[in-house]
Amino acid sequence: MGRGIVFAVANQKGGVGKTTTAINLAACLASLGRRVLLVDLDPQSNSTSGLGVANDSEHSTYTVLAGTSSFSESALRTAIEGLELLPASRDLAGAEVELVSEENREFKLKGAIQGRSLEYDFILIDCPPSLGLLTINALAACDEVIVPLQCEYYAMEGLSALVDTIEMVRRSINPELEIRGVLLTMFDGRNSICHQVADEVRAHFPGKVFHTVIPRNVRLSESPSHGLPIILYDAGSRGAQSYAELAREVVGEPSAAA
Ligand code: ATP
Ligand code: MG
Repeated sequence: MGRGIVFAVANQKGGVGKTTTAINLAACLASLGRRVLLVDLDPQSNSTSGLGVANDSEHSTYTVLAGTSSFSESALRTAIEGLELLPASRDLAGAEVELVSEENREFKLKGAIQGRSLEYDFILIDCPPSLGLLTINALAACDEVIVPLQCEYYAMEGLSALVDTIEMVRRSINPELEIRGVLLTMFDGRNSICHQVADEVRAHFPGKVFHTVIPRNVRLSESPSHGLPIILYDAGSRGAQSYAELAREVVGEPSAAA
C-alpha cells in the first residue's frame, strides 16, 4: 500500500464547518476501514474536544511542531477504530508567533507528518480560521485542500483570498497542491439563497464541488458537546448519512444514494 493522502480542511472564514467536516469525514473514512489521522491545527482545539479529548495534553500538535515531542508519543487513539488524533493544546495559539523567527517555518508540519504517511490512508488537518502560518503549514504539508463553504449570502466573499493563498503556496512551496473540492455545508433546501450559492459555486469551480452536500442538521451541532463524531452520536441522522456519503465520494466508492 502506498503513501496516504493528506487533506487540509481550510477556509479562513470562521464557522463554516471545517471542524465538523474534519471530525466526521475522518470518522466516516475510518468506519470504511481506512487508517486515518486527524491533526488538530487550530488553537481553539475544537477537533480535540469534539472527539472527547481535553486540550491540556502534554504532547500535542504544538509540541510536535516545536520538535519537543515525537509524533508517536503524541497521536492518540479515539473511540473510533482506525481513527487517531493529534490533539491541539492551548499553547498552539503561541505557535503562530513563535514560528515566525524559525528557519523552515512553513515546513514544520510537513516535516512532522512526512515520515508517518505510510501508516495512514488519510491524514486530515483541521485548520484555524485564518491564513496565517498554521494554515500555511497545512497547505505546505497536504496534497489536497477541502474547502467547506457555508451556504449563505456572503459565502463566496473571501474565497478568492483562500484561492490566492493556495496559488501562492503552489508557486512557492508545494507545486503539487490541488483543491480537492468545495463542500457545501449547512445546506437548507427551503432557503433560496442556498440554491443560489450552490449554483454560483458550481459555476465558479467547475468539477471541483463535491456532489455530496451537507444539510443543516441539529444532531451535527449537538455531537461535539458529547465528544462524539456523528456516527457514534446518532448514526441514523441526516448529518451522519451525509458525511458517510462524503467519505464514499472521497474513496471513490459508489454512493448508497445513487
Ligand atoms: P472555526 O472557523 O471557528 O474553526 P469551523 O469552520 O470549524 O469554525 P464548525 O465549528 O465546524 O466550523 O461549525 C460552526 C458551528 O456550526 C458549530 O457550532 C457546528 O456545530 C455548527 N455546524 C457545522 N455544520 C453544521 C451542520 N451541517 N448543521 C448544523 N450545524 C452545523
Ligand atoms: Mg474549527
